[in-house]
Amino acid sequence: MITGKSISACVALAAFLLGYSPSQAQDYKKLHEQAVVVDTHNDVLINILKGLDIADNLKGKTHSDLTRFKEGGVDVQIFSVWSDGSYGKGKGFAYANRQIDSLYAVVARNPDKMVLAKTPAEVMQAVQQQKLAAMIGVEGGHMIEDNLGYLDSLYNRGARYMTLTWNNSTSWATSALDESSGKIPNSAKGLNGFGRQVVRRMNELGMLVDLSHAGEQTFWDVIATTSKPVLVSHSCVKAINPHFRNLTDEQIRAVGKNGGVIHVNFDAGFVDPGFGKRRQQFISRHQAEIDSLRQLDWADAAINTLVTKKYATEMDKTRPPLSLLLDHFDHIVQLVGVDHVGLGSDFDGISATPQQLDGVQDFPVITKELLARGYSEADVRKILGENFLRLFRENVKS
Ligand SMILES: [Zn+2]
Repeated sequence: MITGKSISACVALAAFLLGYSPSQAQDYKKLHEQAVVVDTHNDVLINILKGLDIADNLKGKTHSDLTRFKEGGVDVQIFSVWSDGSYGKGKGFAYANRQIDSLYAVVARNPDKMVLAKTPAEVMQAVQQQKLAAMIGVEGGHMIEDNLGYLDSLYNRGARYMTLTWNNSTSWATSALDESSGKIPNSAKGLNGFGRQVVRRMNELGMLVDLSHAGEQTFWDVIATTSKPVLVSHSCVKAINPHFRNLTDEQIRAVGKNGGVIHVNFDAGFVDPGFGKRRQQFISRHQAEIDSLRQLDWADAAINTLVTKKYATEMDKTRPPLSLLLDHFDHIVQLVGVDHVGLGSDFDGISATPQQLDGVQDFPVITKELLARGYSEADVRKILGENFLRLFRENVKS
């Protein structure tokens, strides 16, 4: 005979073995819904500029759309304004503005669902109105074209962070890619005099200095220059995966000491040191088919879509487990505590993600896993968004 008492004892035992209490298991959705969820990096603006509308259902085409932001409990999304190094002088600033225009247009078309937020008060007002607070982050210092006036202008249009570099260095800051590959385009690594002026101006404006993509020397020069806590909007941990875009333990400790926040990237290649090899093996197994499509003049993106769909189960097995992504959060917390880590998905800027994270609708699984690992509800709320809100407030304080 199975009594109610023995069922609950079994549930409690199973939950104990899984590492979380029954109430936590039931409450993760509630906690996620109530928490302010902030993601500091999403690249969907590029798709908007290509003509997609995030008010439409874009499942299967993108990681993000307005319905799925709601489903994923996202309260604040920082949209990345990105261009590569080919957008040099005379091009980068204009292209950044076109992307900002495209976000303004989306917001204007969907006033019941989202609002542009430039201040902590505007963010909290949007949260209260249950609208998505859309913020702007510039990804690549080359878009200011060595001109502090352009920096001010981007700030005035709503940009609240800027990565000093993307993969390409600027004339005033070297990138992680260039520093790690030894291809230093400037006379020296790190920030030069103008680079320090940029950092100081960002501090004055209350624009967060974002150290994702920065080279190590640039990182240390910024730490020595900035008067405000820094943001790392989408990077992972080098001790777990020695990728050039990830942070060393010394860098993580320095961000902790500076009062900054590291937002963990969901990119499979940043999360998992074994991912590249598994993905290469997958491609090798289907190389003949890929080559024959190329001979038929198929574009690489179309080949990628076809192969991904045709061999979905096999492809899925190459993705890292969700637990490995959570290990990056744990590592940062173990080094510097729970006040210095957050979410920086990089959705729509990455081609492969950990299992169970197929798009912005899936953020609640992070909350579930954090609780399963024994984080308190207060700590989970910090990771989901409160750490970023504190960082934002500290940066706008004069
Ligand atoms: Zn990036």
